[in-house]
Order: sequence, then structure tokens, then C-alpha cells
Amino acid sequence: MALWFCRVCGLDYDESPWGADGRTPDHTWCSCCGTEFGFHDASLEAARQRRAQWLGAGAEWFYPNIRPAGWNLAQQLAQIPVDYQ
Ligand SMILES: [Zn+2]
Repeated sequence: MALWFCRVCGLDYDESPWGADGRTPDHTWCSCCGTEFGFHDASLEAARQRRAQWLGAGAEWFYPNIRPAGWNLAQQLAQIPVDYQ
């Protein structure tokens, strides 16, 4: 199964929080950037705004305890879907 990548920070997910049809967001939060799926990432503009805000605040993890050792912000940002860069 294809991975899904957060539109704001690029974190990979085994399942899309936007549902099987890609149009049914579950309104959970990204573990990394804290984006509310279906709200902060509902449009390109919203995703860019949220990303700028998150990066400006220091790119902290929403759940810092699950931040992987050796986490690389630049590598993760490179995974952001092209349509939302
Ligand atoms: Zn994210």
C-alpha cells in the first residue's frame, strides 16, 4: 500500500487521514506538525500558511515523544506532495 505524506510537513503515514476516497478527512492531527487534517491542509494556500507558521515556530513535533532519533527536517520536507509544496 502506498504511503501518504502530510501536505504540510511531509511526515509519512501508512493510511491517508483523508480516507480511501481522498475526500473524507478524519480531522485528526499530524503527529509532527500538528496540522488538523481536513482543515489546515484543505487547500494549497492553507497548507503553505500552516507550514510557514510551523517552521517559523521552530518546527517542533506535536507529539515530541515519538520524534525519531536522527530525525531530518529537510528530508521530510522533501516528501511533501508536489501539489502542496
Ligand atoms: Zn504534518
